[in-house]
Amino acid sequence: MRVVVATGNAGKLAEIRHALAGQPVELVAQRDLGITDADETGLTFVENAILKARHAARLTGLPALADDSGLVIDALGGRPGLDSAHYAGRHGDHAANIAKVLAELDGVPAVRRRAHFVAVVVWLRTPEDPDPLIAEGRWHGTILDAPRGAGGFGYDPIFLDPLLDRTAAELDLEAKRRVSHRGQALAALAARWPAARAATRPPE
Ligand code: IMP
Repeated sequence: MRVVVATGNAGKLAEIRHALAGQPVELVAQRDLGITDADETGLTFVENAILKARHAARLTGLPALADDSGLVIDALGGRPGLDSAHYAGRHGDHAANIAKVLAELDGVPAVRRRAHFVAVVVWLRTPEDPDPLIAEGRWHGTILDAPRGAGGFGYDPIFLDPLLDRTAAELDLEAKRRVSHRGQALAALAARWPAARAATRPPE
């Protein structure tokens, strides 16, 4: 089954491909089909994930998989939240986003730097699918006062998993998949796939 992945974010795409490597689906990036990003006008991660998936499904005629995700920092009242990708102004400028978060948390002690990543993944069989599969994951940690590690993307270098004592940027794809918001959400989604595939099979 061919599936369009509704993201232009290379980091996310690599994680999605890795997490679903054993699944009976052929993942095609929306960019490879000439599709640009949907307008993210929702007020929640789940709304935006549905908007992205619907946009890609409508323009390609394929089933679509989308991820909307972000970083929620307690001491910042939940910011950057839905604005994670363009917190410092320009979409996907990860270094500027990190610099802005670190400046806002300047002087905040380690015990008050709790944060979590959220990912909502949505699977739509058609653009009008009234019953999408929706799964979510959360990853709890703390925000360091300086970046550490060279892997991953986005806020990974400043997000510490306290149990592993590693930042997300110090984990390889497989280690991150096992603990991350996206890894959890994709595992939950994939566990429910057989039902979704059965529902798309034409009657005999
Ligand atoms: P979206 O395209 O609106 O879902 O943007 C998600 C943004 O949240 C990314 O551009 C990153 O800034 C941030 N983000 C989401 N997941 C992760 C992650 O796993 N690591 C680091 N940053 C993430």
